[in-house]
Amino acid sequence: MSRLARVATISVHTSPLDQPGTGDAGGMNVYIVEVAKRLAERGIEVDLFTRATSRALPPDVELAPGVMVRHVTAGPLEELDKSELPRQMCAFTSGLLRTEAAHEPGHYDLIHSHYWLSGQAGHAARLRWGVPLVHSMHTLAKVKNAALAEGDAPEPLGRVLGEQRVVESADRLIANTADEAEQLRTLYDADPHQVQTVLPGVDLRTFTPEDTEEARHRLGVPQDRAMLLFVGRIQPLKAPDVLVRAAAALVEREPRLRERLLVTVVGGPSGSGRTRPTELVELAARLGVADVMRFEPPCPQAELADWYRAADVTVVPSHSESFGLVAVESQACGTPVVAAGVGGLRTAVRDGESGVLVRGHDPVDYARVLADLLGAPGRLRRMSAAAVRHSRAFGWQTTVDRLLEVYTQAVGERAMAASA
Ligand code: UDP
Repeated sequence: MSRLARVATISVHTSPLDQPGTGDAGGMNVYIVEVAKRLAERGIEVDLFTRATSRALPPDVELAPGVMVRHVTAGPLEELDKSELPRQMCAFTSGLLRTEAAHEPGHYDLIHSHYWLSGQAGHAARLRWGVPLVHSMHTLAKVKNAALAEGDAPEPLGRVLGEQRVVESADRLIANTADEAEQLRTLYDADPHQVQTVLPGVDLRTFTPEDTEEARHRLGVPQDRAMLLFVGRIQPLKAPDVLVRAAAALVEREPRLRERLLVTVVGGPSGSGRTRPTELVELAARLGVADVMRFEPPCPQAELADWYRAADVTVVPSHSESFGLVAVESQACGTPVVAAGVGGLRTAVRDGESGVLVRGHDPVDYARVLADLLGAPGRLRRMSAAAVRHSRAFGWQTTVDRLLEVYTQAVGERAMAASA
């Protein structure tokens, strides 16, 4: 069997160099970077292809030993809205093919594309290079459209069709959870043999359960506060408004809590180029809870770990979530999670043990669950210990072990087909 020496990873719409937690950068960026670093540690070089969005960065940037970010010029050197990107795919794909053509034939052994746009480029490269295409969807348009938040625009038909084409052309599809694998099979008619479930990971060296008091001290959070935390891109799909409304319901239900409550939101607005989550700030003011809210800009994971440690509960009320890395990171730091019982969150949180899953998105339901937890410190402590135990199942090394199995199968099958 041919050795797996070099992987071409494609992430058209968001760069592995971007700070997750704002714009289009989130869990997928974290996934790509963490997997690439660990593949390189195991002797497999990774080239990460992304669209060039700035003149400030050189065409090639070393992200870690053995991991290069390759900037492909396709369209203007600036951020573009995701809806503009399909028009740049032709230029992106030719840039990708040109880069490979500058090397000896057989430079890459496998392509791993992320998100449907990258799958389009991956499809063309697969045909040209004769190597397997492994694809991760991260989110599915059909699933997203079935769970739209109020005011959220549906994903266009072009994306649904694009995803279908990727399903038809990929050698393997990586699903984050068994649920996503099922959705790929039932909604996109993917071949069961093609779909492999690989759980994403968490950086268990960064997200550790250290002392809450010290974390609060470092962040300037008073020790006597009951602190709820939201982390992530601020967009309707993640429903941070449900947390703000739940905070309002909580102080109405228990007025004495107002003086003690602190609701911290860490992250920036999604996909708009703005830096402040204006609508959320306004909503908090309208509901009379501006005084309990604290808004923090996105930050690197080392600092984020302190926010999780400082919180009593992390709240993840998303309408749809392919996995929900935030939920596992919080648990790894010993902070239980109250999450919507949707998508990957049902895998990420062990209901009743490491957190609580709430059906639906009624803020009053969240307020009730949160009031019960905040009023039961013993239960919170037990949940905290269970959360740390549960998070141990999600290391990136395990993710990479599984991915390598899938890569090896795909390369082996390709080699057999070529020799037949
Ligand atoms: N994140 C971060 N800094 C922030 C906010 C978020 O590094 O200020 C990271 C967070 O650690 C997590 C990712 O962004 O790994 C968000 O992933 P998740 O799966 O929760 O949501 P997605 O963005 O994929 O929808």
